[in-house]
Amino acid sequence: MEKKIIPQLTDLIATKEVFWANPNYAQQTVPGEKVIDAEARLKRFAPYIASVFPETKEANGIIESPLVKINHMKRYLENTYNTVIEGRLLLKCDSHLPISGSIKARGGIYEVLKYAESIAIEHKLLKETEDYAKLNDGTFRSLFSQYSIAVGSTGNLGLSIGIISRMLDFQVTVHMSQDAKQWKKDKLTSLGAIVKEYADDYSKAVEAGRQEAEQNANCHFIDDENSEDLFYGYATAALRLEQQLKEQGIVVDSDHPLFVYLPCGVGGGPGGITYGLKLIFGEAVHCFFAEPTHSPCMVLGLMTGKFDQISVQDVGIDNRTEADGLAVGRASKLVCEKMNDLLSGSYTIEDKRLFHLLKAMAETENYYLEPSALAGAYGPIQLSQTPEGQEYLKNHHLEDKMAQAIHIIWATGGSMVPKDMMDEYLTK
Ligand SMILES: *Cc1c(COP(=O)(O)O)cnc(C)c1O
Repeated sequence: MEKKIIPQLTDLIATKEVFWANPNYAQQTVPGEKVIDAEARLKRFAPYIASVFPETKEANGIIESPLVKINHMKRYLENTYNTVIEGRLLLKCDSHLPISGSIKARGGIYEVLKYAESIAIEHKLLKETEDYAKLNDGTFRSLFSQYSIAVGSTGNLGLSIGIISRMLDFQVTVHMSQDAKQWKKDKLTSLGAIVKEYADDYSKAVEAGRQEAEQNANCHFIDDENSEDLFYGYATAALRLEQQLKEQGIVVDSDHPLFVYLPCGVGGGPGGITYGLKLIFGEAVHCFFAEPTHSPCMVLGLMTGKFDQISVQDVGIDNRTEADGLAVGRASKLVCEKMNDLLSGSYTIEDKRLFHLLKAMAETENYYLEPSALAGAYGPIQLSQTPEGQEYLKNHHLEDKMAQAIHIIWATGGSMVPKDMMDEYLTK
């Protein structure tokens, strides 16, 4: 086979910051049935969610996060990087999603609800047309307590799955990688989840979860690397974003391009959201993934075309990052396949810069985010300042439309970080 020349690969392996435009990017029609099915299921569950998680009452049990202007942060970025960010800059605050305070409150909670629904329907205790608030009754709780859920996680997925599983009374085991934060493990244990720790990285934790589940027919394994349910649960974010943009009078079309910058770990969260956005906005939306320079598994998989058949360790990268939600050495196969021609591109960011941006976001906008959640904040800079970013804009005839552009930084976690931990982040 002819060897592909990939200019950014050397820099990527040297853990330098890179910006990569996806040469396979092309406009595709995206089937929407599964996204619409997921949204309908979340609506059925809304009365249950509203009744057991009071913080969702105001939104009638829909788990959603604000979309806000961040003009002070925009000025900070422009001054710091000596550039102008044309168009509007917005922050999507999944960091403040109800229930578990991260992007995982979308996919993770969705998959557990879907599992619960299937068990209840199978036992002829529930119909789709009924009020799901009854799922909090003793009959259902004792039924669910005979089933268990297993998941491997770097932290936030385990937290989301643990919280919703315990609320329904499922038994739940969370297999945690070594980089998972102690406060997340403590929180899970306090809820009655079983936490198992692994000295190795996240892929090993996932493997352990998979094996445990295989030995038990009443155990559902939530597979962060391959789950379609997670993926389509995440994708529903796009339907809500469309609504929020409308409410704010923000138009997205070919003359008003939308740029979205999404922190990427194994890929399910940002991949699902990209899929949903492509379904809604088609060619008008341009999605970019952001990964730490020491854990760039998705961009490595996509740029080499090897998808999940290559890990960052294979090319000598250590997968050590303070951005624990992104500390993944091997990307999801499912997501690589789906993103191969939907994703506009990717870039990497140094940990040091994540901490600068974290502090700036706190000081300028009063949003306290975890390090992973800041990876998106560098996107507008890289798009306008790197030669590859400029070429992307030129190739897609976007240069003269940037004054009407909308940039969304997807903030993926942070509101549940304990204060002492956050204080530590702020001084790094
Ligand atoms: C999990 C996570 C991500 C990325 O989601 P993946 O599905 O792993 O790609 C980003 N930010 C935070 C805070 C996360 O917990």
